[in-house]
Amino acid sequence: MKIHTHDGYDATLESHPDQCPFCHRKITPIPLHGYTKDQRMQAFLLCPSSQCNSTFIAHFFRYGQSWNFDGKTSAGNLKEKEFSEKIEEISKSFTIIYNQSSFAEQNGLLEICGVGYRKALEFLIKDYSIANHSDQKDTIEKATLGNCIESYVTDNRIKGVAKRAVWLGNDETHYVRKWEGKNLEDLKKLIELTVHWIEMEALTKTFYEDMPG
Ligand SMILES: [Zn+2]
Repeated sequence: MKIHTHDGYDATLESHPDQCPFCHRKITPIPLHGYTKDQRMQAFLLCPSSQCNSTFIAHFFRYGQSWNFDGKTSAGNLKEKEFSEKIEEISKSFTIIYNQSSFAEQNGLLEICGVGYRKALEFLIKDYSIANHSDQKDTIEKATLGNCIESYVTDNRIKGVAKRAVWLGNDETHYVRKWEGKNLEDLKKLIELTVHWIEMEALTKTFYEDMPG
């Protein structure tokens, strides 16, 4: 695509951002104007979606006669992860802490977002345990997360996945990493699986209660 630059040229953009930082749709941006300096270009681009039409700046570097996108754009809206009604009902705190961690991650605060995900996981599992054992609320609140999973999570699939998520979550808070080669993406996948199993169990229970056999 071509973009008109401040010094009167039409520059060729070999690559471009493929996602709008505001609406997060996959897009081919409309080039508005480029400003070049020292082999770098700041390009003013428009999201073509009529529901969005937001403008943003993308950064390019010179490559021979043309320009390549360097992966950076000005900030737009942070992406919020939506959880099902069931999960919101079980642990509103989990959804809030998870999204705050995700905002930290989207802002590049990679050294601290893992600690946040670990905290989100603790709220999810403890609130889920309390929902199933409301008479033992105090004990559950004070228990370590590992003990809580051992004693109160009865479904073996939730137990297996949650335990592994805690192992990786603890790695995010400790000085020495125990699970080399496992990373933030693995921790997020394990949290997602935990969410998935909890939803399945909670939904199944609703049907058993509504339609006693
Ligand atoms: Zn957009």
